[in-house]
This record gives sequence, structure tokens and C-alpha cells, in this order.
Amino acid sequence: MGNKEEYLLKAIREIHLHTNIQVLDISSIYETEPVGFTNQDHFLNMVIEVKTDLAPIEMLEVLQSIENDFDRKRIVRWGPRTLDLDILLYNHENIVTEQLIIPHPRMHERSFVLIPLYEIQKDIYIPGIDKPIADIINQLQDKEGVRIWKQKNGVDVFALFES
Ligand code: ADP
Ligand code: MG
Repeated sequence: MGNKEEYLLKAIREIHLHTNIQVLDISSIYETEPVGFTNQDHFLNMVIEVKTDLAPIEMLEVLQSIENDFDRKRIVRWGPRTLDLDILLYNHENIVTEQLIIPHPRMHERSFVLIPLYEIQKDIYIPGIDKPIADIINQLQDKEGVRIWKQKNGVDVFALFES
């Protein structure tokens, strides 16, 4: 909901400002048709790569506190919200706890995750999925619903990290 591009860029800046996290790469911004609860505006999605010495659960806590800063409101599951920050992968780890599952359990069926992920890491390995990411994307039904909304360019990325 709201100024979606601004929420994304502000969230990335907040992540990068954290002492223990360094943003290494970001994807273009993609526009996605809503799934599930469809009576709503398009989503904007992107994937970023970070370097961190935080444990996965600590990383999740940081992301949740940033979501809270954006006063995320969610009335309906999969419905409108200001910001959703998920951890897709953490090294090659497999983690299953009550609070955190890595790889993100639905990432391999979501074009809006895999397409931006593929843009920044063409040869990424998803633990438990023994297929190249390009093959997984090719087999997905909903990939046409995911379009580049704003192409990444070096100047934007640089501007993002200027104080
Ligand atoms: P979703 O992201 O599926 O739309 P939420 O953002 O509301 O749903 O997340 C619900 C819960 O999912 C969080 O409280 C968190 O504990 C849990 N969770 C499990 N695995 C992950 C993950 N990899 N990334 C983010 N949250 C996760
Ligand atoms: Mg989430």
C-alpha cells in the first residue's frame, strides 16, 4: 500500500544502516499481479543480497523491527500491506524452527521471488531443490505476471547508499 517504491528503498537503506549488515546487491524492482486476495493493487517486489554476522534469527528480528517501523498493517492474509521482509536463503543452510524456516518454504513456487533472485544470482543453489533456478522459473505458470517496473541501474544503487 502507499508509496511502494519509497517503502522498498527506505527499507533497504535501513537494512544497510544496521552495523552488522552490509547490502551487497539489489535487483530491479518488479511489479507483480496480486495472488490469492486479488481485489487489490499490484505489488512491488525485489530481492537483495546482504553480508551479515548476525545469526538467522537475529536477522529476522532486525527485519521485523524494520517492518514495524513502517507501521505495517495487515488485515487480510496476502492482502494489502506496506512492507513484507522475508529471508529467502542464508548461506546453504536448512533451518526449521517455529519462528523461521530457511529456505523460505514458498520461494520455489513464487515467480516474484525467483525472477528477481535470478537477476542477481544466476547460479544460486536452493538447498533441497536439485534444479537450476532457470529451470524452476521456466516451469512456473505465473511468470508472465512478473514484469520489471524499474530497471536497476548503477546510479540508483549508488544514490541509495549516499547519506
Ligand atoms: P508472509 O511473509 O508469509 O506473508 P508474514 O510476513 O506475516 O507472512 O510472516 C509470518 C511469520 O513467518 C513471521 O512471524 C516469521 O516468524 C515466520 N517466518 C518463517 N520463516 C520465515 C522467513 N524465512 N522469513 C521471514 N519470516 C519467516
Ligand atoms: Mg513475511
